[in-house]
Amino acid sequence: MAMGLSRIVLYVLIVTLPVWLVAWLGEEGEGIVTDVGRNFALIGFMILCLQFLLAARVKWIERAFGFDILIRFHKTMALTAAGLLLLHPLLIAYGGPGWKLLIGLDLPWPIWAGKVVLLLLIVNVLAGIFQSRIKLGFEKWRLGHDLLAPAILVLILLHSWFIGDDLELAAMQGIWGGMFLLAGVMFVQHRFLRPSRQRRRPYRVESCVQEAEDVWTVKLVPPEGQSIGEYYPGQFHFLTFFRDPSLPVEEHHWTISSSPAQKDYLSSTIKASGDFTATIGQTRPGDTAAVHGPFGRFSYRKNLLCLRSAEDGPGAHQDAP
Ligand SMILES: Cc1cc2nc3c(=O)[nH]c(=O)nc-3n(C[C@H](O)[C@H](O)[C@H](O)COP(=O)(O)OP(=O)(O)OC[C@H]3O[C@@H](n4cnc5c(N)ncnc54)[C@H](O)[C@@H]3O)c2cc1C
Repeated sequence: MAMGLSRIVLYVLIVTLPVWLVAWLGEEGEGIVTDVGRNFALIGFMILCLQFLLAARVKWIERAFGFDILIRFHKTMALTAAGLLLLHPLLIAYGGPGWKLLIGLDLPWPIWAGKVVLLLLIVNVLAGIFQSRIKLGFEKWRLGHDLLAPAILVLILLHSWFIGDDLELAAMQGIWGGMFLLAGVMFVQHRFLRPSRQRRRPYRVESCVQEAEDVWTVKLVPPEGQSIGEYYPGQFHFLTFFRDPSLPVEEHHWTISSSPAQKDYLSSTIKASGDFTATIGQTRPGDTAAVHGPFGRFSYRKNLLCLRSAEDGPGAHQDAP
């Protein structure tokens, strides 16, 4: 509980930091409507930068809330940021230069960059909301999301750097640069470096045994010299199988079905329920898989330990793996 609360407080402080800073060090306000519009943009940028951190499966964050809550929060904050950034030009226009800011064509390029941001944001949000209704497969949606999200952030950075007076403050430039760098590092680490590391040292499929109609248990042994880390029963991991080239390579999450008491292998028991899992029975011994985990808080052991810890007081046990 305290673990989650401290992270929430930290999140709120980081997201609102530029607002406090501009109020403290910035020039006198330009009227309440313009100031609110500007603050919406400042907060929107900070939220979008932190979205990359939330999506990067950082265990320090995930451990406190669980993966599902984190992903739901990520979605909620995406909508919040989009709402704030869409209101930003309306309020700025209303408070100052008028509607030509919205409908005029003779505008400086940073304003056009801002307009493109809004368009890409709307596309990104709508694709997320209607993904299954427009039958956009998860992998295609994720590729689009991975292209749109960094593009949006780069354009916001350019827009705010070249148009906003607030970015004349050295402290604000530091925050903007730092947050952009953080988002970039998280993105590259999560989408390229970690997967490539795991791909270079994959687990090996020891067996793929049919348990019932449409259900298989895949047993995976770690690479030479690597041991299986701690995990709780009920936690899950992400697996990416590398099999016959004709079979799809996709990352999916499955509960770890092996006992944490043994340290020789990991397994997952997988039901064929869609296009990818329909191929799971074609997994062969000797195939390999990238393993990322464990994640999740859905474990009786974890809740038992939390209860005991509450009864015994702080420091009664070491927390989750
Ligand atoms: C934390 C977690 C643990 C899981 N553990 C297991 C497990 O131990 N064994 C197992 O067989 N499956 C498990 N699943 C579900 C598994 O991830 C999906 O069945 C699989 O990703 C579907 O991939 P697909 O491309 O074959 O199916 P798709 O074509 O993507 O979907 C086929 C069907 O599966 C459903 N589905 C797809 N993704 C999910 C999801 N994330 N959660 C629930 N239903 C989904 C869809 O609604 C659809 O009905 C788990 C899911 C989560 C979130």
